[in-house]
Amino acid sequence: MEMDVAALSTSTRIAVIGAGAMGSGIAHVAARAGHTVYLYDMNAEAVARGRDAIGKDLRFLVGKGKLAAAEAEAVLARVIGSSRIEDLADAGLLIEAIVENLEVKQKLFRQLEELAGPQAILATNTSSLSITAMAAVLARPERLAGMHFFNPAPRMALVEIVSGLATDPEVAGTLYDTAKAWGKTPVHASSTPGFIVNRVARPYYAEAQRVLAERAAAPATLDAVLREACGFPMGPFELMDLIGHDVNYAVTNSVFDAYHGDRRYTPSLIQRELVLAGRLGRKSGQGFYDYR
Ligand code: NAD
Repeated sequence: MEMDVAALSTSTRIAVIGAGAMGSGIAHVAARAGHTVYLYDMNAEAVARGRDAIGKDLRFLVGKGKLAAAEAEAVLARVIGSSRIEDLADAGLLIEAIVENLEVKQKLFRQLEELAGPQAILATNTSSLSITAMAAVLARPERLAGMHFFNPAPRMALVEIVSGLATDPEVAGTLYDTAKAWGKTPVHASSTPGFIVNRVARPYYAEAQRVLAERAAAPATLDAVLREACGFPMGPFELMDLIGHDVNYAVTNSVFDAYHGDRRYTPSLIQRELVLAGRLGRKSGQGFYDYR
């Protein structure tokens, strides 16, 4: 594959698939960097909500004096909402941020491979799934890599650029340079379950939920302790509420399965109950805390 290792030029259109918390955040970042961005979701309401969320973030920055009002308007105008997947055909980079499920992502990438141009790069924002497995269903697995942003994407600097066994190093290099051009701090990683951050952070969530199960203290107390005494920017319960319990639970399950049921990664039954109740955290109004 002929591909220069350099950041994608701002004339390259970016497609973001999935307009939830991460997809809208990634679209915000790419549009701020000057790209025209397609924000696609199979659910038209999610597209509208995602675009509204970007507008709200931009207005917040204007209010803080960190962004000119005219620039905020121009950024939002570059985000084109869509619920027709064919609209993404001329994108040079397609970043997937849909549900954390390997089969669903594979099915989407097969579709994207059909409609994207031959030079287009395919990227996934998966938190934990195997890039190698995701790419294995493609005719050209070399053009897929992980581009893993953190929540909230406009504020978090780190981006893990994750290579599967088949990923072309030039593709990973282009994503690395592009993340840098977008003001991020990228790091290369290879495809292991949970990559770097989600692997190392698993015990943080798991142990907190075990402490809660033993009724040592309430979530608010535990969060305050971890924040104030240990210096974490967020306690584990408020962080899981921000991430979304459906997402966090799916990630733990995927890491647990990938390590053949290693007990260190045992998913929490407390979290399973929250997922079953639809208490997904901030996005549903309730999780460990009540946001209604
Ligand atoms: P979310 O639930 O907020 O949004 C997911 C969106 O994808 C929804 O709007 C849904 O309608 C859409 N969707 C689902 N299946 C689709 C399909 N087949 N085609 C098109 N759209 C589809 O989820 P999120 O928190 O934004 O997470 C998305 C991805 O990013 C997951 O892979 C997750 O693991 C990863 N991630 C999440 C976080 C986090 O903190 N939430 C951080 C980093 C990475």
